Amino acid sequence: MLRTHNAQSLNLSNKGQRVTVAGWVDRRRDHGGLIFIDLRDRSGLLQIVFNPETNKEAHELASTLRSEFCIQAEGVVSPRPEGTVNEKLPTGEIELLVDKLVILNTSETPPFYINEESDVDENLRLKYRYLDMRRPTLKNNLIFRHKVVHMMRTFLDREDFLEVETPILTKSTPEGARDYLVPSRLHPGTFYALPQSPQQMKQLLMVGGLERYYQVAKCFRDEDTRADRQPEFTQLDIEMSFVEPEDVMDMTERMLLEIMDTLRPDAKYPRKFPRINYFEAMSKYGSDKPDLRFGMEIKDISDIVAGCDFAVLRDTVANGGKVMGIVLPGCAKYSRAEQQELVELTKTYGSKGMLPLAYTDEAPSIDELTVESVKSVATKYLTLDQLKAIAKRMEVNPGDLVALIADKEDKTLDVLGRLRQEMGLRLGLADPNEFCFAFIVDFPLFKWDEEGKRWDAVHHLFTAPFDEDKGLITMEDAGKARSKSYDIVLNGFEIGGGSIRIHEADLQKQVLKVMGYPEDIAQDRFGHLIEAFNYGAPPHGGIAMGIDRVVMLLCGADSIREVIAFPKNQSAQDMLFNAPDVVEKQQLKDLHIHLDN
Ligand code: ASP
Repeated sequence: MLRTHNAQSLNLSNKGQRVTVAGWVDRRRDHGGLIFIDLRDRSGLLQIVFNPETNKEAHELASTLRSEFCIQAEGVVSPRPEGTVNEKLPTGEIELLVDKLVILNTSETPPFYINEESDVDENLRLKYRYLDMRRPTLKNNLIFRHKVVHMMRTFLDREDFLEVETPILTKSTPEGARDYLVPSRLHPGTFYALPQSPQQMKQLLMVGGLERYYQVAKCFRDEDTRADRQPEFTQLDIEMSFVEPEDVMDMTERMLLEIMDTLRPDAKYPRKFPRINYFEAMSKYGSDKPDLRFGMEIKDISDIVAGCDFAVLRDTVANGGKVMGIVLPGCAKYSRAEQQELVELTKTYGSKGMLPLAYTDEAPSIDELTVESVKSVATKYLTLDQLKAIAKRMEVNPGDLVALIADKEDKTLDVLGRLRQEMGLRLGLADPNEFCFAFIVDFPLFKWDEEGKRWDAVHHLFTAPFDEDKGLITMEDAGKARSKSYDIVLNGFEIGGGSIRIHEADLQKQVLKVMGYPEDIAQDRFGHLIEAFNYGAPPHGGIAMGIDRVVMLLCGADSIREVIAFPKNQSAQDMLFNAPDVVEKQQLKDLHIHLDN
């Protein structure tokens, strides 16, 4: 080794010891002849000192050092002189008096400061990712990620799971996104698809009798990139035989608790993750991935306004729609412009408008409410009794603003769900140190696709229905079938999902049929799986967790790009390698590909 110690492993107990360290020049200061360098390696910082009086040669060489030079330094560990101790630095009580310096490599001036967490254009950070990861935040995120994944592996190993790799060059395995395709050279005109997940493989591993499988699996989905989405991402993919939903959820819960207890013991989180029915989540929070750090539950006031004089509300209810709202605590004082901003915000969520009702604190309590104390364009048309009934239903306190949406039920819930999430964060109701894990369970098996006039799988087409709902897998009744599926959610994000699978060939064929797959296409795409089910396939189920999202949330990053070593940018480009890129004509020829231009 080119060193005897990591920089940050040294302390006063090493006093007088001769050591060698290696790393980068983080910062350099010249003081009255002495040169001080903060030497940085992965472990942290160590001050190293060059004294012209004790070693002229090393000092002279040190005067040529610049930021990010890679160096090796040998010397004696010494307590810092009185008054120069740096309490902020773990190695702040000592310094290394260097008598031998080797420049292992020089460095150009970096395109951004490494030793400062200054704001840098993200594309520049991505282009120079190897410099970006010398900075503490990204480095620490990658270390944290390692720990999370390591804990997942040790937990699953202890629970008797086998880690099995599955192919990347495969056939389309649908998760509802577009596939990435790879042209075959040996079989002109045909393509491999990169897996959107190892879903079918892991099911086949269960048919193969492996019983418990996991994989830190790369998944590829050609979707638009977002803060929590990348074209390629990593899942902790799990499958188990002879299980029911509760077994999978229990295992997931125990694993996440072990990770939290070890890596985030400072945080607040439940010992038992609530199981929330999908319909309950939708009606209370307008979302199947609710942020449970705050209440602000959606309330239905359709019955209260059904007979009111405000036409928009009354007609919505008369036409089968819903009027629902959420309370924005303390927001009655919002100015007209602030209220208008919220109205515009709800329009970006697809609403036609939003009706604010400001229950000002002119009324000391809701019982003492007067029509005048409520500020809204709607008060002219609402009676005091109606205003009071709304306030009671919504548990309003004087000073609160009620945001009402009147639309079709789905739309109303969706808009209010998004407004709830946004305002919960804006109003500071979401504690960043709280981790509200929950399982959302019993999703419907299908949703109706109006355009395609067919049933779409809510989770995916391999998901099993409730046993008692098997008879509902028909064109007429499919919408009523419930599924043995579950999502795990955390603070407004879906961090994983899974289900018990269909393991009977006939049921799988029936599901494909109501989903509109013609028999020959079903056979071509899923024949291998259906055939496997004919050979004593065991009941099985599993889950997959988005490792990038889990790590992002647990380390408080605001994008999964912050926890991936080499992510794509927001336009799905690799800025370091410049990918995607054009290729040689000959390569295209080999692949039998002709480009239009
Ligand atoms: N394959 C599913 C997904 O990627 C997870 C699962 O059902 O296990 O979402």
